[in-house]
Amino acid sequence: MAADILEHQHRDQVIRYHLRRTRRKSIGVYVFPDGRVEVRIPLRARQARAEAYVAQMSDWIVQQLARCSSEGPQRPVRYESGTEHYYAGRLYTLHVELGSPQRVELSGDQLRLYCLDPSDIQRVERVLYQWYRQQAERHLRDRVATWWQVMRVDLPHSTAPDLRFRRMKRRWGSCSQRNSISLNVELIRYDPRCWDLVVVHELCHLKVFHHGPAFYQLMTRYLPDWRARQQQLEGMDRRKSVD
Ligand SMILES: [Zn+2]
Repeated sequence: MAADILEHQHRDQVIRYHLRRTRRKSIGVYVFPDGRVEVRIPLRARQARAEAYVAQMSDWIVQQLARCSSEGPQRPVRYESGTEHYYAGRLYTLHVELGSPQRVELSGDQLRLYCLDPSDIQRVERVLYQWYRQQAERHLRDRVATWWQVMRVDLPHSTAPDLRFRRMKRRWGSCSQRNSISLNVELIRYDPRCWDLVVVHELCHLKVFHHGPAFYQLMTRYLPDWRARQQQLEGMDRRKSVD
């Protein structure tokens, strides 16, 4: 389907984006690794809706574009000093040093990683992910506890769900009706707004297992802007979905 090219003025920068009409029901914005921005809207939606949406998401779009130009398309992640890595939605520069015990410390905009062999990239990755996991277990567990208190009147179980933390390739989270939730450790890398999106999504599944209207009604009750948050998260890693 043909796409129009539109522009949005964001502070001193012009965001050029393709407007594409599709059979989808909601509006979405995508920033591709080559720097192309695409806004998809339902077939009959007015263009003004896309314009308002781009205005609302412009900070995020500019942030993604900056990342495209600094990383180039499809550049693989390298775990060595000078590379940039996300934590809690912020980019930090990795600084690898010889040190024991192996650990990670945040210092300003640096992620300082101490390990027994800084030249061993796999070891560095392992130390970094151990730290991500510790942070996930602490902060995501907190978010689940908080949201469970808020939502418990709507949930079928009288106790908070069991939690598991895993590194998953395709999903941000999953849930079983036996009152247990798995969360992707990698979620900790992105904006806490996205943590809440996945936590609320999985908690809603404890009551409504499918993705029908009842599910989205429940989502909207607790997180009215869940769509924007979901698009933000999808933009960070398109291989994974909120399941
Ligand atoms: Zn789901």
